[in-house]
Order: sequence, then C-alpha cells, then structure tokens
Amino acid sequence: MARFPKQLLSLIAQFQKLPGVGKKTAERFAFQLLEWDASHLHTFAEILKTLQEKIPHCSECGCLIDGVICAFCEKSQRDPKLLCVIATPKDAYAIEETGSFLGFYHVLGALLSPLDGKTPEILGIPRLMERIMSLKILEVILAFDSTLEGDATALFLKEHLQKKGVRVSRLALGLPVGSSLDFVDEGTLSQALEGRQLLH
Ligand SMILES: [Zn+2]
Repeated sequence: MARFPKQLLSLIAQFQKLPGVGKKTAERFAFQLLEWDASHLHTFAEILKTLQEKIPHCSECGCLIDGVICAFCEKSQRDPKLLCVIATPKDAYAIEETGSFLGFYHVLGALLSPLDGKTPEILGIPRLMERIMSLKILEVILAFDSTLEGDATALFLKEHLQKKGVRVSRLALGLPVGSSLDFVDEGTLSQALEGRQLLH
C-alpha cells in the first residue's frame, strides 16, 4: 500500500495541532499547499517564521502589540481602577468589541492546571498580584471560560485578591459548563460583563 511521502505526513501532523482540525481536514490543507506556487508558499512561510517577532506581547499586560505602543494600555481612555484578567490575548478583542469594558487587561497565557505544569508561577500570578497592587486596582474582573480550569483559576485568584482587599467579580456567562469565550457572541458577552457577579 502506497503511503504519503514523509514530508507531507509531517505537514499534516502540524495542521492537526490546530483546534478543530482533524485528520481529513489536515490532509486537505496539506494537499492544497502542494498546489500553491513557490512565491505564495514563501510568503506563507515568512509570515510563520516571523510571527512572534512581528507580533510581540505587551510587557505590561500581555496583549498583542501592533506597532510600538499597546492599544490596551493606552491610559487616556481607560478606567485605571478596573482590571480584567483573561486567559489569552484573543479574549481582549472579544471584550473590546462589546464596548462595555473600559479598564485594563492582564493576560495569564493559560488557565491553572498544575498537572499539566500550568502552575501559578508559570502563569505569572505573582506578577499579576504586583501589578494589581501597584496600579491600586479596586476591582478585578475574571473573564475565564466556564470550565474546570477556569473555575480553579477564578477560585485561586479570588482567595489571593480578597486577602488584599480587592473586589473580585466573575463574568456571568449564564452558559453551560464547558463553554468558551470564543463561542460567545458580542451581546451575550456584553450582558455577562454588566451582570458580572461579585465573588464572596
Ligand atoms: Zn499592554
């Protein structure tokens, strides 16, 4: 039985690492790339190669930077006492789109999952605590997916922040357990922000 060439298998394996891409889709993508002309492939490769360098993370909040300054840390239009903690840079865009949040952001990069090595230190939680204290934040809004990891992260942060006298609230997604911010529409997210629940 003839098999795919090794290099093609490697390419397929890369595509399969993407969310929602199964074996068949990954094969379709790989075969499609084989049809592209060399310059098109070169451009694609160049974008991938320089992705991290061309799209850096803000050293303050962890959001993505386009240019030199971070649009999310631009102080003039922000409420300096409100901080929204999110898992990934993508979440900031979803929240911005609602127009219902005017504070600052802080990206953890992942949710707590100590068994997978995602400990409070790896997530930079000590640095988050310092940032909250130095900015004199009055309320922290936790905008995490409604999953086990999201709940664990929220509980951990709540306990640490309340000890420091910071109000902590969590998005009232009103969605089934396991739901992700990725799949929430603007209107629902906006309601979730306005109806956020103070954690006790
Ligand atoms: Zn920033």
